Amino acid sequence: MAFSKDVQVEALVACGRCCCLCHKFCGPKIELHHITQKADGGADSFDNCIPLCFECHADMGKRDSHHPKGKGYSPEELRKNRDKWYQRKQASVSTNITDSDKQLFSDICEVFQPLKYTLAEYDLANGVKEDRFNSLTQLLHEEGNPFKEFLDGDLESGRKRLVVSAIRFKDYFNYHMFTHMNRLVPHIYLMSIYEIDYEAKLEKLFQEEANILNSLALELWNEYQDFVRLYRQRA
Ligand SMILES: [Zn+2]
Repeated sequence: MAFSKDVQVEALVACGRCCCLCHKFCGPKIELHHITQKADGGADSFDNCIPLCFECHADMGKRDSHHPKGKGYSPEELRKNRDKWYQRKQASVSTNITDSDKQLFSDICEVFQPLKYTLAEYDLANGVKEDRFNSLTQLLHEEGNPFKEFLDGDLESGRKRLVVSAIRFKDYFNYHMFTHMNRLVPHIYLMSIYEIDYEAKLEKLFQEEANILNSLALELWNEYQDFVRLYRQRA
């Protein structure tokens, strides 16, 4: 058995689809974990349920008594963290978004909105102008600046999630695109021209590289859209 529909809805609304441990906004990428495992007599109840992101959920299974490295979560700790987060979510619904948070949100939209076509629809195999992502790079340079963080806890956790996705994309982009006639194109691996099917292999590698870049770009765009939705739910 799993949690009933009612328990699922109640828990997902209480957490605002944010992970109860790391607080990032998850959207559909969230899982409901049994605090006390079913095998140990845990119930399918609201009290025994904690919403977690994929990463934090994966950490739940890592309690190996034969190799005790690090420290696993106890049921009491999970419950306390969850209840604290539920309370904070409830409190933030009743408070208004500050002007500085509104400004920060619009600054982020100004960076992402013009990138819609490039991130969501364009095939990066065709290359891009070198300065295409300057504003995104600038935004990432500001990471760690407290003036560029949201005061609202929910929005800040959403922003963090967006930044993680942007770093993943930019890192891959920086190391896998190179300049060719003032455009950045996917990196072509050096291969011996004596290899059989040299041209075909090159084309295949090039396409693979472009496919990864395109999917990371789309992932980033989707993350941005989730972030906008989160803001609108809060505003
Ligand atoms: Zn998490």
